[in-house]
Amino acid sequence: IFITIEGPDGAGKTSVIKELGPMLARELTIPLVLTREPGGIPIAEKIRQIILDPKNTAMDDRTEALLYAAARRQHLVEKVLPAIESGKLVLCDRFVDSSLAYQGAGRKIGMEAVASINRFAIEEVQPDLTLYLDVDSDTGLSRIQHGRSIHDLDRLDTESPVFHQRVRHAYLKIAEENQERIVMIDAREPLQTVIEYCFAAIKEHFPQ
Ligand code: C5P
Ligand code: MG
Repeated sequence: IFITIEGPDGAGKTSVIKELGPMLARELTIPLVLTREPGGIPIAEKIRQIILDPKNTAMDDRTEALLYAAARRQHLVEKVLPAIESGKLVLCDRFVDSSLAYQGAGRKIGMEAVASINRFAIEEVQPDLTLYLDVDSDTGLSRIQHGRSIHDLDRLDTESPVFHQRVRHAYLKIAEENQERIVMIDAREPLQTVIEYCFAAIKEHFPQ
């Protein structure tokens, strides 16, 4: 089983996964693998450092999209697919929808162009379920400003509010067009409520 978590910056994915992981592990009869993109394995974590390094101001938008896709492929082949094939549940922080929203809409490369390099990268793999944590960009950005230390800043943290609005609108469109796979969760709710919604959505899709 392959479940992804998506959302704009400040939606709270990281905080949700921190608690949702142990909750799921207690409940499940199959092993759980928690992982993230870009990253999750050494090669992809190295690519992540290149992508997010604030010093890499010369990074071209399409180069960025290709690096995400490269990290995604290696992570998929090396970690996600073997885990799914051996019967585990993989819960992954971000997947292709992130690239469609951030590189396709945020960077204005175009969702179809980004979708096509991602088809090359992932071939036919699709998540069984995607939890989309929806938050408006004002709320998301203010959470980040208050919650993050200066040492955690990445290259994206200098992006404008309109960049983040484009990302959010793209996510809403993707959620609207893929309702069979994506469950939208209101991430302005308190953290515990969001976690309960996520847990309930997973149980509903995979009753055991
Ligand atoms: O989800 P996480 O906080 O680990 O993402 C790290 C950074 O990478 C964030 O600033 C996020 O906005 C950015 N990102 C991106 N394009 C993606 C995925 C993440 O710009 N496809
Ligand atoms: Mg982040």
